[in-house]
Amino acid sequence: MPFHPPSTIGMLGGGQLGRMFALEARRAGYRVVIFTDEPKGCPAGQYADNEINAPYDDAEALKRFLSQVDVVTAEFENLPGSLLEAVEAVKPLRPSSKAIVTTQHRERENLFLREKGIACAEFRVVNDLKSLEAAVSELGRPCVIKTAAFGYDGKGQCKVNADTNLAEAWKAFEGHRAVVEQWVPFVCEVSVVGARGVDGKMAVHGCVENLHTHHILDVTISPARVEPAITEQAIELWEAVAEGLNYVGTMAVEMFVTSEGRVLVNEIAPRPHNSGHYTIDACITNQFQQQQRVICGLPPGDPSQHTPAVMVNLLGDIWPAPTTHPDWSPVLNHPRAKLHLYGKKEARARRKMGHFTVLGDTVEEALEHALQIRKALGIG
Ligand code: AMP
Repeated sequence: MPFHPPSTIGMLGGGQLGRMFALEARRAGYRVVIFTDEPKGCPAGQYADNEINAPYDDAEALKRFLSQVDVVTAEFENLPGSLLEAVEAVKPLRPSSKAIVTTQHRERENLFLREKGIACAEFRVVNDLKSLEAAVSELGRPCVIKTAAFGYDGKGQCKVNADTNLAEAWKAFEGHRAVVEQWVPFVCEVSVVGARGVDGKMAVHGCVENLHTHHILDVTISPARVEPAITEQAIELWEAVAEGLNYVGTMAVEMFVTSEGRVLVNEIAPRPHNSGHYTIDACITNQFQQQQRVICGLPPGDPSQHTPAVMVNLLGDIWPAPTTHPDWSPVLNHPRAKLHLYGKKEARARRKMGHFTVLGDTVEEALEHALQIRKALGIG
């Protein structure tokens, strides 16, 4: 039986993805309860019906949370596996603990891709200097060392160039497991965001193009300016990942496009994704509405994009002081731009504080407007 409003959806995590989810779910008449280790008034909590703020291993708080909700989802993946299993024992957790635990950890994620025969960069798993040396000699330089657990936005990564001293490089990973990946000389980075329902029905938003600065997503262009064959491959990869994980929920897959026209999976996010934020303003059903629909057992909505769009991230770097906002006039005065702020109390360098999306009759027009607004806001 699907969960209809006014059922209560439980959300693990309190960040901006939970916030945008809560806005959509409440608009449709659902109740939303957040369980987060962040203090009260976190981005998601500001729009939730109730917010439980406690460490993730607080059994009493978890019990209280579970007693208030009908179905549970997560807005980020770096959650203890024991918590996910405890949730799943009592209430439906979508996506499953297995899907989240697989994708939260680079080693498990890459081994899953290899096992399913899904295209990704060549890699080796390493746990000491000796295995690192062997991996680098097999894969060749350049390559990249990535921490197995809790890496994101390029954190916990080290590129191994021709002159990199491996003993030095290994110091940052000492005592941990890591994955060494062959360097992919990509021509562009793309991603696909989509949703898969309880009955296996899938709906993808299409293939978007991502530009990163300092390993953090900077700009998303949708649709991606790539050949149809690339879009097709990207969507097929997304579907293979979703089926391989028996996934239920909204999921993003980030990919590399090589100069030979191959598409390789880089990373899976078991949740809505920054590169899917444009869907709020440019698609019939956005990524958060899809998450709400499928975790409640409803079929995914129509994911079609109605207008070309460009999304630009707003990082704390452009805040004049931690609690002083920039002058938003360049976004607010633009008739086809939409500002989204995440309600974070203090800005810090590289912290994701918000984004804006600008629509255009063509991708080129949207991009031109986005770049003008970006420049007027002082984004480097
Ligand atoms: P990740 O945290 O794995 O998404 O990596 C952050 C960024 O580092 C990616 O968006 C790429 O720009 C770059 N990168 C990561 N892995 C590789 C690779 N194997 N080859 C080339 N670039 C990579």
